[in-house]
Amino acid sequence: MNQLLYQGKAKQLLATPDPQTIIVRFTDTVTALNGKKRATIPGKGALAAQISMRLFELLSTQNIPTHYIRQLDQQSFLAHKVQIIPLEVVVRHYATGSITKRLGIPKGRAFQPPLVEFFYKSDELGDPPLCEAHIYALGLATPHELAQIVSLAQRAAALLSDYVAQRDLKLVDMKFEFGRTAAGALLLADEISPDTMRLWDARTHESLDKDVFREDKGDLLRAYQEVARRLNLTRSLSASGEGQGEVEGQGEVGTGEVPSPFTERGRVR
Ligand code: C5P
Repeated sequence: MNQLLYQGKAKQLLATPDPQTIIVRFTDTVTALNGKKRATIPGKGALAAQISMRLFELLSTQNIPTHYIRQLDQQSFLAHKVQIIPLEVVVRHYATGSITKRLGIPKGRAFQPPLVEFFYKSDELGDPPLCEAHIYALGLATPHELAQIVSLAQRAAALLSDYVAQRDLKLVDMKFEFGRTAAGALLLADEISPDTMRLWDARTHESLDKDVFREDKGDLLRAYQEVARRLNLTRSLSASGEGQGEVEGQGEVGTGEVPSPFTERGRVR
């Protein structure tokens, strides 16, 4: 049993014997509206984990530094331990979600170049939007770090968008989080899954992401299964019902060690 270091809304962080690494374990819990809406969907954790691992692997091959090291089991991966920067970096290719409400931009409008926005990761404050000056005033990052963060987010978004476009998916928007290792390296962290990005069927614009749950638009598991199928992850899917309940214990995944808090959604939608 690996020590539970952090219990997030949809993930757990577990210790390993190596203080430089942690285990990221996806649970079957799904939340929205800043945690007010919540459900347990058996199999969802494994699907989000499989999709995340595939996308981290893709980014790693393209020289994007990420915390992902390797898969441990269907719901867990080994990651470099980082101190998460409490900054949500959202890249938008098309308008939807909070930006349509905040700025009155019509849903579906394309952003070219993609729009990069920042939010303060704070459940108490409801994840407010931040401008660059706020980020410096809060001491979240230096100008040099922020430039690196924006550049990595832009590159990652472009790579992910191209990748899913070949699979008839539109990457509408996504949220990235970054962290610093003890040695000071900046890594793309957290997860990259339909919990943290919006994916639409390229033709029908049907949501295949957490909006299905947020907006009661149908079967979330089916939507995630469809994403996994298009990413050729179907071999992992047969077992996707084997999951556990929500705050289940710790995985008996191999190695273990130490780390940092993540975030899940905070903003309200
Ligand atoms: O809600 P909003 O339109 O600002 O969300 C933009 C993107 O960030 C969406 O892909 C959403 O899933 C993601 N997000 C997230 N965690 C949050 C807020 C948004 O992953 N706390």
